[in-house]
Amino acid sequence: MAMAVACLSVTTANAQHLSTENKFAQPLGKVLDEVSKSFGVRLKFNVDTTGLVVNYAPQRIRQYSIDETLLNILAPFDFVAVKQNDKLYKIKSYEYSRRTDEDGERLIAYLQGKYSSKEEFDKRREQLRVEVRQHLGIDSVMGKFVQKPNVILSKVRKYDGYSAQNIALETLPGLYVCGTIYAPATKGKHALIICPNGHFGNGRYRKDQQQRMGVLARMGAVCVDFDLFGWGESELQVGKSHQSSIAHVLQNANAIALLNYMLASRKDIDAKRIGVNGGSGGGTQTVMLTVLDDRFTAAAPVVSLSAHFDGGCPCESGLPVMTSAGGTCNAELAAAFAPKPLLVVSDGKDWTSTVPETELPYIKKVYSFYDAAGNVYGTHLPTEGHDFGPNKRQPVYDFFAKVFSLDASKMDESKVTIEPFENMYSFGKNGEKLPANAVRSVAEITKYFDKQLYFDLRWMAGLDKKAKDWAASLQLNDAEKTAKVEKLIATHLKRVTEWHNSHPYTTVPAGINPRTGETLRNVDREIIADAAQPKHYHTDLMEGLRAILTEEQVEQILDKYTVGKVAFTLKGYKAIVPEMTAVEEAECLRLLKEARERAIDFKSMKEISEIFGMYKDKCEDYFNTHGRNWKQMYSAYYKKLQSEKKKAKK
Ligand code: ZN
Repeated sequence: MAMAVACLSVTTANAQHLSTENKFAQPLGKVLDEVSKSFGVRLKFNVDTTGLVVNYAPQRIRQYSIDETLLNILAPFDFVAVKQNDKLYKIKSYEYSRRTDEDGERLIAYLQGKYSSKEEFDKRREQLRVEVRQHLGIDSVMGKFVQKPNVILSKVRKYDGYSAQNIALETLPGLYVCGTIYAPATKGKHALIICPNGHFGNGRYRKDQQQRMGVLARMGAVCVDFDLFGWGESELQVGKSHQSSIAHVLQNANAIALLNYMLASRKDIDAKRIGVNGGSGGGTQTVMLTVLDDRFTAAAPVVSLSAHFDGGCPCESGLPVMTSAGGTCNAELAAAFAPKPLLVVSDGKDWTSTVPETELPYIKKVYSFYDAAGNVYGTHLPTEGHDFGPNKRQPVYDFFAKVFSLDASKMDESKVTIEPFENMYSFGKNGEKLPANAVRSVAEITKYFDKQLYFDLRWMAGLDKKAKDWAASLQLNDAEKTAKVEKLIATHLKRVTEWHNSHPYTTVPAGINPRTGETLRNVDREIIADAAQPKHYHTDLMEGLRAILTEEQVEQILDKYTVGKVAFTLKGYKAIVPEMTAVEEAECLRLLKEARERAIDFKSMKEISEIFGMYKDKCEDYFNTHGRNWKQMYSAYYKKLQSEKKKAKK
């Protein structure tokens, strides 16, 4: 620590030369570098600190605590330092949905202090149920669902001991939730298991999902899975708008609509045996559904449940459900399922690693208020990671076999037929079978949601449309290539826009522009803030485009970003500079193209014009240092313009 104090005193001594008007501003990277050296810890960066400036840096340092020092320095940027060990900290963006293991323990301890009896927990549960519904806005959205929805059912495909049938169920007018119904081959009343999906690759079409649906159906449960909003066939209708709070409410509403449909339309469902099961984001939704709908009688969230992580996608935590009843978490929401049978599957390598010590004992405690601790089942796989692998599917089979009295002798994944994705489509491979009333853009449904969501989604949809139009303008006659270009552009536009919106010019301290010696204008500060965006935003786009397109096509896209400023400016120069030589033209073009490639990373047209302005200065310097006089040429041009105007008037 002696070394720490010595180094820090240097910083403080330097800072004495600064006045408070300068806010003791220092580059964030440099400050963290000093802190790292002083305290003898290594910092690993998951964020880009380029261009970021921290005010009052020396005053934020606490010589006796690295944790407090980092907290003080990083807080203004919404960054956090996550301790990996005594010598290593990871610097990350603040995540609203994720806290530390210790935070989870503290929240559980706090919640446990709130109730110690069935009566007390009953009250708490009622409050949770009411407020979760309100925060999710589910009653408002479901109130807008079509009363007599269009239902499209495919032919039934018969397999060994079970069958599969696709369903497209209309929810909001013209909006469909698509899924597959897996049903036992046996006659009689069956259990029903609603299976919300997580974000595993290939969604509900993937092999392990088909295995699980097939096995549970063989064992005697009708299983229904369905696409996430903006995934699978839903993408045909709403594009890639999954990452939105609309997904949060709509996915839960979709599950309930499917449950309603199944109970109303089929005679083979036993309403006393209604289960819900999903992994990861599907596990988050599993817990949410138990809070929203009392008809569920058994639940199995897999690799999701945690007191310190709410689920990182807006479809899990985009709406403020966790602020219900003064603050809750997935563990408490799951406990509120008491005394009904609950299985929690966890593993050692994700946020569920704390389940055996923290979440499960707490849930059992709550269940014990109802004399039902025996209804809480847990399977922990300490050496496994975040997936829905065989060791996670097995406890799910065992659990439902037990609580729903399914036929365990049919528990054999090798008997399940893995279907090609196309088999599970209701609307055909390219959406050719979409019904006439189907919505085709997320903009058509945003009117059903609150204004802020509407704004965000319309904005996203706007960028998607731009990307689509620009990619289409290349006329590649190659759907795959066009889609790739579209995706590269959409990703870049969204990254730049999001960065721009979350880094307003006010994040850059006022000061002097070293280029002009004048006070920085707001647009200058805006440019500095935007220029600090991660470099890979740019390289991902450019390298991606250049891998697919010719240089000429890449230039066409860049011209779209910059509304043809290169050609327009060059045309102006040709009008101003008498008998411009080929060499001069080439140099101007080179500089303007450089401007264009820089300008694409800036959001506003004002910024883009400023970037071109810097390069126009360079062009004019070039003329002045190569035998021309820009001022003279320009005033001659201006006079010519004026006299032409006069002539035209006459
Ligand atoms: Zn999601």
